Amino acid sequence: MDIRMLGAARMVTGSCFEVKTQGHVFAVDCGMHQGGRQAEERNLNTAFYEPDKWEFILLSHAHIDHSGLLPRMVKYGFRGPIYMTAPTEALLKIMLLDSAHIQEMEAQWKTLRMKRHGERKSVESLYTTDDAIKVFNLFKTVEYGETFSPSPGISVTYRDSGHILGSAFIEIETPQGDKILKVAFSGDVGRPAQLIVKDPSPLKKADFIFMESTYGDRNHKDEDASLDELAEAVMHACRHGEKVIIPAFAVERTQEIIYCFHLLYRQKRIPEDLPIFVDSPLAIQATEVFRRFSSYFDDETKDLIARGYDPLSMPNLRYTLSTEESMTINAFAGPAVVISASGMADAGRIKHHLKHNLWREGASIVFVGYQAQGTTGRRIVDGASKVRIFGEEVAVKAKVFTINGFSAHAGQAQLIDWLKTVEDKPMHVFLVHGEYNAQQCLAQEIERRLNFPVSIPEYGQVLSLMAGKEPVCTVAPRGVMEVAPWVEELSEMERIIYDLKTSFAPSEPEAKRRLQELKQKVERLLEQG
Ligand SMILES: [Zn+2]
Ligand SMILES: [Zn+2]
Repeated sequence: MDIRMLGAARMVTGSCFEVKTQGHVFAVDCGMHQGGRQAEERNLNTAFYEPDKWEFILLSHAHIDHSGLLPRMVKYGFRGPIYMTAPTEALLKIMLLDSAHIQEMEAQWKTLRMKRHGERKSVESLYTTDDAIKVFNLFKTVEYGETFSPSPGISVTYRDSGHILGSAFIEIETPQGDKILKVAFSGDVGRPAQLIVKDPSPLKKADFIFMESTYGDRNHKDEDASLDELAEAVMHACRHGEKVIIPAFAVERTQEIIYCFHLLYRQKRIPEDLPIFVDSPLAIQATEVFRRFSSYFDDETKDLIARGYDPLSMPNLRYTLSTEESMTINAFAGPAVVISASGMADAGRIKHHLKHNLWREGASIVFVGYQAQGTTGRRIVDGASKVRIFGEEVAVKAKVFTINGFSAHAGQAQLIDWLKTVEDKPMHVFLVHGEYNAQQCLAQEIERRLNFPVSIPEYGQVLSLMAGKEPVCTVAPRGVMEVAPWVEELSEMERIIYDLKTSFAPSEPEAKRRLQELKQKVERLLEQG
């Protein structure tokens, strides 16, 4: 079996693995690369994927970094079935339409900007709403724990990965001589104590495991501490008569945060009359899907519902669907909570709310999810004193809270616990879906604590897997290899330069510190030759 790394290699986004076995070719996940120019170029480079050769796609879950390129692949010749669980199908329909809409808007905006600069060219969007709708016909749903055969000689089983509603890790089995080769793709592994969804199922037997490593270098704070922090963020803003702004992914995170507010409300830890706005049409639709698939919830949530509570609602919760309603939130005086997308604050209505509130001392900005490098969210979390929103510099005066205990990803110790559930020692673990530093850290821990062989594949690399043998890794194609080792460092340097340009006067001590940091990075790259 040959596996070609088409994304999420030494970075978090763009999950896509091409699998060749028994004369068949298919893909596991087909995610969008996010954060920065190089990522965008990879999204456009559809020829590199060769989607017209794929017979089918196995999809782990609905998140765009795992599914966002599906319309692009269909546009360029993919015609096979796409397998997923029923909740994933329901979530994916609304998410792909939303993604297509964002792509169309961005292309329009870029075209307009070029015209203003006197250029005649127009920018084509990555895909359109029509492209997204064409994907829906290819969806095929599967149940957790039921083995199916998408092509002769290939058996596939989906199991609950406890990350978001309908999320799965995927086990693939195929005969190799007198042996059976077993490969597992983790998708995204959830945090065991997460609200709403079940805990990740245990791994069965696997010779080779491709495991995510988003939080490979750290553990999360416990849930109670996170709930306390959320209450503190709310009370901070209430005391100052300001708002609480929460950028949150529309799917899963928003529902979990609503659940948290439901708990705080019932525990009387937040003012009873505090309005809570969910300002994201996508989040509103996603919440409806959650209600429809409540049979997938964990026992705790089901129990709550059985006792007559609705964890996804409370008296002062308001959903704002139209742009007009959204705008009235900014005119609304006094304390309120605003939960809005995107989760990394680089698109969507959240940008308006940040523009109106970031500069207000006394307001609370609460980050409850992963912030990728290069995003506005990451800059705020990293302590920028100003950020650029809609072409305008906005001072960061509000109090910034970063609560990582709500993560939908397992922390380091939880990833290792999940890996331990494998029945026999695997031949090899490949770390994917993580920043390189975090992956190196996790690799060391896995080797030290479990003594499993680990490696961190590169973008474009091909891995040849044989049952009972060490994997053979080919060198990544030229061009890809030449760029790859620089990417992380260069994008960090870009971020420092961006901060220097936008956030600091040359005389500020922070500016000097950042310049030093930049110098060290340049020197390190020169040393590496
Ligand atoms: Zn995910
Ligand atoms: Zn992911």
